[in-house]
Amino acid sequence: MIKLKGMPTSPGIAIAEAFVFKKEERRRVKSKAKIDIQREISRFAQALERTKREIKMLRDKVMREVGDKEAAIFDAHILMLEDSSFISKIENLIRRNGLSAEDAVRKTIDELVEMFERMDNIYMRARAEDLRDLGNQLISNLLLEKKTHIVLTKPSIVIAKELLPSDIAKLEKRYLLGFVTERGGVTSHVSIIARTLGVPAVVAIKDATKHIRNNDVVIVDGYTGDVIINPSDEVLEQYRERMRRYELRFKAFKEACKMPATTKDNVVFKVCANVGNPDEAYLAIENGADGIGLLRTEFLIMNTNELPSEDDMFKKLTSIVKLFEGKDVIIRTFDVGGDKPVPFIKVPREANPFLGLRGTRLMLRYKEVLRRQLRAILRASTKGNVKIMFPMISDIDEVIEAKKVLEDVVEELKSEGIGIGKYYVGIMIETPSAAILADMFIDYVDFFSIGTNDLTQYTLAVDRTNEEVAYLFDHLHPSILRLIEHVVRVAHEKGKWVSVCGEMASDIEAIPILIGLGVDELSVAPPFIPVVKGVIRSLHLKDAKELARKALTMKRASDVRGLSRKLLTSLGLY
Ligand code: PEP
Ligand code: MG
Repeated sequence: MIKLKGMPTSPGIAIAEAFVFKKEERRRVKSKAKIDIQREISRFAQALERTKREIKMLRDKVMREVGDKEAAIFDAHILMLEDSSFISKIENLIRRNGLSAEDAVRKTIDELVEMFERMDNIYMRARAEDLRDLGNQLISNLLLEKKTHIVLTKPSIVIAKELLPSDIAKLEKRYLLGFVTERGGVTSHVSIIARTLGVPAVVAIKDATKHIRNNDVVIVDGYTGDVIINPSDEVLEQYRERMRRYELRFKAFKEACKMPATTKDNVVFKVCANVGNPDEAYLAIENGADGIGLLRTEFLIMNTNELPSEDDMFKKLTSIVKLFEGKDVIIRTFDVGGDKPVPFIKVPREANPFLGLRGTRLMLRYKEVLRRQLRAILRASTKGNVKIMFPMISDIDEVIEAKKVLEDVVEELKSEGIGIGKYYVGIMIETPSAAILADMFIDYVDFFSIGTNDLTQYTLAVDRTNEEVAYLFDHLHPSILRLIEHVVRVAHEKGKWVSVCGEMASDIEAIPILIGLGVDELSVAPPFIPVVKGVIRSLHLKDAKELARKALTMKRASDVRGLSRKLLTSLGLY
């Protein structure tokens, strides 16, 4: 029996045999022979057409089997293949550098992938997957390879280094019970599809395809990120029992998801949604979100070469704000920068992009971008209950300066006779300096939202994207708990509230501790809302407080997890 640990990105538990999906990355084909330029150009054109045709077919298949929203990814692929600068770059490499069509495609894709992988925004980084997928399909069509379909002949858990959109589209969904991958994150296609299909997924497990062999029995725990290979009979029975209980409980949680999350001793907590695009906003409503705790607005600028107009942003934000009918919608200003090629902002190459010009730092450098976005947000504030939040803050002067820009924009709109609604201002606590100095920051804002993904990365000095050090990345580390305790205490002393919006808020072992530390709101990916509410409803606040008190005295994250599991087990939640 081997136990691996990864990042849970879709809730649920599955037990089944493994189907290990191995696929050759299409290698660059080096050819010594002199290239016939015209022939290569026309081979490329044919491969391009064939790939487009295939993608359209996959899109229709996914539309039928999964849904329109999930199929939209393939429209983006088609757009990319029709992009004139993409096509001419490849043609130029053939014409000017004498590369074969395969080499030209690979070189172009490699450069684009590298650019996207260096981005620290999870959405943008996940798009590197799509590009690799496109590159593989183009090259495979250049080589006129036969397409392999993934046929599952029995209930299976699919194990792969990485699953690209076209791989998943080819999967037989009937027998698909779960996913385990070596790469990927919350916003990878595999995670999105798993959540839509309602099967568990655990990603970022180094060497999963080496440890797991075809037909091994595998347990995937999409709540904790545990993956157990060839479990003993005893463990298998424990999990079967847990699965039965979860199934019943999850059904009950889902049925009650629109009700408030009230503890057994009658204290209400807000459970909101992290939303990264309009589709997720619908999913959030469906899953009973009490509001949006984090609207990642990067979707507004993801696929454009220029900053969208104020009206365009206003319309897109308004449609989300309206959907929530007066419930809180916390809109985060653009959290881009550093290594990220926002096409309309020139950022110098940096040695340490995570420590560079990103988030609010970048927006204060490019105030016109911030001003335009703030105008759109303030106008949308007339349509509901909007709160504005600045990300990646490490210094008081950043808050003062960002608020000054906001106040200027408010005055400007007023002088133009444009109405704005009531709005509140908060910051994300994502750096140790902001957490430690929270007692100073609090005087400048109405609320804090703790971004535990970045706070963990910066406090533990563990790159959140580096699989080599993933074993050190744990938001339940006592150092993080102590920072959260301090942030909550000083905010409450001033009568202000605190949310947690990192992935920690949907970690079942973290929920009782966060509640016990006094966090007022948890904001999580939409599919996790019913579970988070259900866990809160099973708790007495006094037990959660006692757990949090003990957790603060622990030495390591594993000690904290042990304590929490004990409480969850006693409540029949584990
Ligand atoms: C975080 O850092 O915890 C967070 C919620 O922001 P993001 O994941 O978008 O960086
Ligand atoms: Mg962050």
